Amino acid sequence: MDRLAGWDEHNRGRRLRVLVIGGGIGGLCLAQGLHRAGMDVTVFERDDAPDARTQGYRLNIEPVGSEALHHCLPSALWDRFVATAGDPGPGMGFSTSSCDC
Ligand SMILES: Cc1cc2nc3c(=O)[nH]c(=O)nc-3n(C[C@H](O)[C@H](O)[C@H](O)COP(=O)(O)OP(=O)(O)OC[C@H]3O[C@@H](n4cnc5c(N)ncnc54)[C@H](O)[C@@H]3O)c2cc1C
Repeated sequence: MDRLAGWDEHNRGRRLRVLVIGGGIGGLCLAQGLHRAGMDVTVFERDDAPDARTQGYRLNIEPVGSEALHHCLPSALWDRFVATAGDPGPGMGFSTSSCDC
């Protein structure tokens, strides 16, 4: 306990620095949330570029994930996410390679 109290005393007034390993949707959402909470965050990603992988075609975000994203993102980014999201509709859909539905 004494050691923890000493750490607390030593770090009072300092921004906590967090290193996030992995810039997937989970790491980026976490980084946004920590940044929002006032922490100094750096994300490390091993892929060379955002388009280094060819998998997937769109993001599918379920309600719990959507709630977490809403909580973590600044409102401008959340608004952009909502504005650019597609509506899958009630049934099964098909889209072209350019995502036209
Ligand atoms: C073939 C395939 C197709 C998919 N298609 C879709 C789709 O169309 N729509 C959809 O919603 N979901 C799709 N998914 C699922 C989706 O990719 C995952 O649900 C999502 O990526 C999980 O996010 P994550 O942040 O947990 O992990 P990831 O996205 O895997 O992110 C982890 C990141 O950490 C990085 N990393 C790992 N180790 C290190 C390290 N040591 N140092 C630095 N960086 C590191 C990796 O490079 C990666 O970028 C697909 C998955 C696969 C495999």
